[in-house]
Amino acid sequence: MAKKSTAASRKKFLGDLKEHLLDMKGKLLAGIDSELKAEREGNKDEGMDTYDLASEERDREINFILSDRERVKIKQIDDALDRLDQGTYGVCESCGLEIAEERLQAMPFTRLCRDCQQEQEKEAKSQRRFDDERNTYRKLGSTDADEENP
Ligand SMILES: [Zn+2]
Repeated sequence: MAKKSTAASRKKFLGDLKEHLLDMKGKLLAGIDSELKAEREGNKDEGMDTYDLASEERDREINFILSDRERVKIKQIDDALDRLDQGTYGVCESCGLEIAEERLQAMPFTRLCRDCQQEQEKEAKSQRRFDDERNTYRKLGSTDADEENP
């Protein structure tokens, strides 16, 4: 297989990136831990009274939202680490070419090279335009205007 960058420098780059991702994940997990601890301690200060059940439920909801958002990030990091281990990281999923190192540094979770990404965005845009036109036609035929796309 012909490769643009030398195998050795690519290997070093990916090794550094892996360390960076592991560091990112460690910090993220530590952050979630201290958030949960802080909230648990906040609960303790309020003491045990009849309001506890309600506030506990509310806190659980907050925790769920927080961890949901952070879980997505952790999943992205895990996926990238998996691909690093399998040797598929940094290879465009669409055209199979190596993704440029500057691009991976800026967007470590990307699975597409710049060209393929632009191609996809173009397609997404024309798909949106198509949907917009359809919505316009539908609006002309009906009176409901509450389906505005942002
Ligand atoms: Zn590509």
